[in-house]
Amino acid sequence: MRFLKNWMRTGRLFFLVSGLLALLFIGLDFGIEQRSQQQLLTQLELEAQGFRNGFEMSHRDLQLQMLTLASLLAENNRVQTLFHQGARVLDSEGGGAGQAEAAFWRSALFNYLGSRWQLMQDQYGLRQLQFHVGPGVTSFLRVHNPGMFGDQMSGIRPVIEDVLQDQQPRSGFETGRIYSGIRGVVPVWFNPPRQPRQFVGVLEAGTSFDTQLQRLDQQYSAGFAVLLKRDYVEQQVWESYRDDNSFHLPEACNCYIEASSRDEIQDWLQQDLFSPLVDDATQSVLLKLPGKHVHFTRFVLADYNSQKYNAVPVGSVWVWQDKSALILAIHQERLKMRVALVLVYMVALGLLIWLLRLTQRRLQWRVDVAVQQQLNTARALEVSEQRYQNALGAVNDGLWEADFVTGELHWDSRCFEMLGYAEPRDLVIDDWYTFIHPEDLPSIQNTIEEHLANQQSYSIEYRACCADGSWLWVEGRGKVIQWQGDSPHIMTGTVTDISARKHVESELRRLSVTDSLTGLSNRRYFFKRLSALLAACQRKSRPMAVLMLDIDHFKAVNDQHGHAAGDAILMEFSNAVSQLLRQSDLLARLGGEEFAILLPETDAQGAWELAERIRQVVAAARVEIANTQVSVTVSIGISQRLDSDISEDEVIVRADNALYRAKSRGRNRVESDAA
Ligand code: GH3
Ligand code: MG
Ligand code: MG
Repeated sequence: MRFLKNWMRTGRLFFLVSGLLALLFIGLDFGIEQRSQQQLLTQLELEAQGFRNGFEMSHRDLQLQMLTLASLLAENNRVQTLFHQGARVLDSEGGGAGQAEAAFWRSALFNYLGSRWQLMQDQYGLRQLQFHVGPGVTSFLRVHNPGMFGDQMSGIRPVIEDVLQDQQPRSGFETGRIYSGIRGVVPVWFNPPRQPRQFVGVLEAGTSFDTQLQRLDQQYSAGFAVLLKRDYVEQQVWESYRDDNSFHLPEACNCYIEASSRDEIQDWLQQDLFSPLVDDATQSVLLKLPGKHVHFTRFVLADYNSQKYNAVPVGSVWVWQDKSALILAIHQERLKMRVALVLVYMVALGLLIWLLRLTQRRLQWRVDVAVQQQLNTARALEVSEQRYQNALGAVNDGLWEADFVTGELHWDSRCFEMLGYAEPRDLVIDDWYTFIHPEDLPSIQNTIEEHLANQQSYSIEYRACCADGSWLWVEGRGKVIQWQGDSPHIMTGTVTDISARKHVESELRRLSVTDSLTGLSNRRYFFKRLSALLAACQRKSRPMAVLMLDIDHFKAVNDQHGHAAGDAILMEFSNAVSQLLRQSDLLARLGGEEFAILLPETDAQGAWELAERIRQVVAAARVEIANTQVSVTVSIGISQRLDSDISEDEVIVRADNALYRAKSRGRNRVESDAA
């Protein structure tokens, strides 16, 4: 059961930890994903900035190139002369398209430039070459479209207007009547010999975005497109030229595609995929299109005028690059990372399982050891308990325990057995006192009070009341083993039956004061009693007498009948004398055939009468020994207590003296100290 519980606990722990670990790894994966996305976006933003920088640099390069080409032609003397002649004649012919003579010079100029124009188209991507004169902006010759001239472009071509005005070269992107271009515009001067130079007009060289975008496409492996706003285009370009293939009008973006390096832009513009551009920001968007991921970069395009006046941009530049390979590589990298994460997770899980198993095994081992120890301890306790019980059985002790809080008293079966109870019964502490002999109670109470004060184990001997009402000597031992503050709580102890010992003790005591042959008191006891009685009688001035008795010629009896016969006569003598005495009298054998009698409350008369009676009874008695009647006589000396007596010795000496007189006066007689 416990193992099952342990396993459940371990299992739950395992699921909890592995779940947490899984969450950690999922979090880690999410973090890596986020970071990877962020890195990709940052990379794309950097690339977008790179595209914009690249576009703008090449844009400036082209402007410079156009300025250089225009300057080269404007420096040419022939060009200067022909343009000067044409402009002068045109002026005289009333401006605008001019007359025949202007047409002559226009044609001469066009013819002169013919081969150069071709070369410039081929070598430098020049798409437009045009001469303009004032007032306003009048087209004198469009080399790229010689049939169109004399039109007025005032307000439409600010870059030309500005150069006509201050004769400073300028460049910029501008959309004209026929198309949009990157233009370089320089002043053309006529330099007559030894005369100050004369300003003729301006020469404009232009190129379309196509060349630039193709170059950028190759350089960056990305599609490039320039889109112009619809209203801007419609305001600038003649309607007949708007239908040219260069322009498209997708509804989605409300713009014309001015130029693009790849046609696919048209498809994307049909779909409403893009949000409007905000300010000058470079927009970088990664779009998931059917079958591929495409990175779009968009930024605004300003023409000469909007740049100059900080006005609204006229269009935007679009760059797009297929990122499918990069995304695939990133996905593969992510997949590898995920596989690695899963592997690490599984390894961690394996480690966790191993660790849990190890911990579980260790715990189990500890539990087993503890259980084994407990079992051992229990077994040892059992053995010890058994030994204890055996020991108790052997010493025959009874065990008891008293609870002073509940007042209960528990006796084991031996206690009841000891006192002769067939059945144990419930007891309270107060019951105990009823088992104690009233004479022993005070000493018991003292002992227990002492124990509570000094807390040392106590031992007392007392008489306990048995079931049959008899008294049994027991020895009680006890000690408080648990306290509640200063008050005893649990007290426990043993009771031992000491009746046998007590009996031996009393027997010994009796023997120590008894004569072994006659069973009378011995000399020691006689003198002890005499001393006590004398003191008491002296105190109370009460009469008291002592008789000293000595059997006459006892040596002869021994000699005649043997020692055993002598002993028998001694015993017979003792019995005979004892029967003549009162309860309070004490007959003792002092040694050999000498006896003494202590007579309390007996005066000289009384003592004499008793002594005389003893003498007569002894003399009359016969003891049959080996079919022979043997008789003995006794001599008796009497002494009385005198107030002057200091000790028993004086009383004894006087009795001895009286006895001596009785012997010396013939034996079988009584003599008194008073005589
Ligand atoms: P007297 O009349 O002068 O007292 O003579 P007696 O023989 O009694 O004198 P004595 O006191 O000299 O002798 C005492 C004798 O008592 C000696 C001893 O043999 C005997 N006797 C003493 N004690 C015992 C005893 O315990 N048993 C027996 N059988 N004889 C004893
Ligand atoms: Mg004697
Ligand atoms: Mg004698």
